[in-house]
Amino acid sequence: MSGHRIAVIPGDGIGKEVVPAGLEALHATASRFGISLQLDEFGFASADYWQRHGTMMPADWEETLRGYDAVFFGAVGWPEVVPDHVSLWGSLLQIRRTFDQYVNLRPCRLMPGVRSPLADREPGDIDFVVVRENTEGEYSSVGGRVFEGTERETVLQETVMTRTGVDRVLRFAYEQAARRPARHLMSATKSNGISISMPYWDERVAEMGGRFPDVRVDKLHIDALAAQFVLHPDRFDVVVASNLFGDILSDLGPACAGTLGIAPSANINPERDHPSLFEPVHGSAPDIAGQGIANPVGQIWCASMMLEHLGHPEAAAHLLGAIEDVLALGPAEAPLTPDLHGKGTTVELARAIADRVRERS
Ligand code: ATP
Ligand code: MG
Repeated sequence: MSGHRIAVIPGDGIGKEVVPAGLEALHATASRFGISLQLDEFGFASADYWQRHGTMMPADWEETLRGYDAVFFGAVGWPEVVPDHVSLWGSLLQIRRTFDQYVNLRPCRLMPGVRSPLADREPGDIDFVVVRENTEGEYSSVGGRVFEGTERETVLQETVMTRTGVDRVLRFAYEQAARRPARHLMSATKSNGISISMPYWDERVAEMGGRFPDVRVDKLHIDALAAQFVLHPDRFDVVVASNLFGDILSDLGPACAGTLGIAPSANINPERDHPSLFEPVHGSAPDIAGQGIANPVGQIWCASMMLEHLGHPEAAAHLLGAIEDVLALGPAEAPLTPDLHGKGTTVELARAIADRVRERS
């Protein structure tokens, strides 16, 4: 028996519906594999908390979360009550930066039973991961406005790349590639147009490659790479990108692989000095919140990624297999949610996956 402490933060909107669904699948998997979990739920990082306290998180949130092995997160944001940039910067982005979660990992896989918006794509054609740099790069706050209000008004915002920051995310991406059968890494660049930071990125990619002789590495300019995601998603295995490019690619990838509702993501601190955070790619979806029809698969897939991170690859693969089995049944046989063209509810789909976890060999 190994015990893990997990902080659970449902957040807002459908986060409060898909997190319990994710926990049901997590419990079913943990009990099957004899993994003991201690789960503590927190109500902060939500609009409710904001209404009561005027902040998104308590002052001591860092000490509170620090002792956990992982954070299982739903979604934050309820624009009727608190503007999105306030809720995001006051919670999730603070957690990512404070806990040095410098890798944002997003698997993109076309699951059986899920329709890709790309014509003629079948399961197996799309199966890659995007590794996004999550703490520096284009999203720096270095810059400002000069000559404001004059004809010469000028706005500057600097990209910041540090050797430590670039190398550590590249190392993680190479390690991912080295573990996968295709052993291929694609780096997103734009060194033809962005002539200082991107050539540096390319240089570090080449340098780090020396330590991973088994991994084939290629680079593509971000514009061409985005087109290739749509035209030839089958050519990708592991894709590594700076913060901005990775942000764009890691929305485009899951979109090519079907619905937003099934896409998971992990914000990882690979050194494990701090807890990592697992959250679905989708947001709080105010338009469908409270109706019980949110797709719980993104959150359940997050539970699988979390198990993998906690050192239980077999349990993680088993849970992912259960998700695939249920999706593959299609909307006629399984209680798939409306975004998957079914008539099922969040609770029914989660129950079907948890049952499958118990049944499958
Ligand atoms: P963000 O929090 O990233 O700003 P957003 O508000 O732009 O997110 P979402 O909340 O992810 O976007 O919702 C985008 C659309 O996708 C909405 O129409 C929403 O209903 C739908 N959607 C999102 N998640 C799910 C889900 N789990 N199941 C079904 N539909 C979903
Ligand atoms: Mg939103």
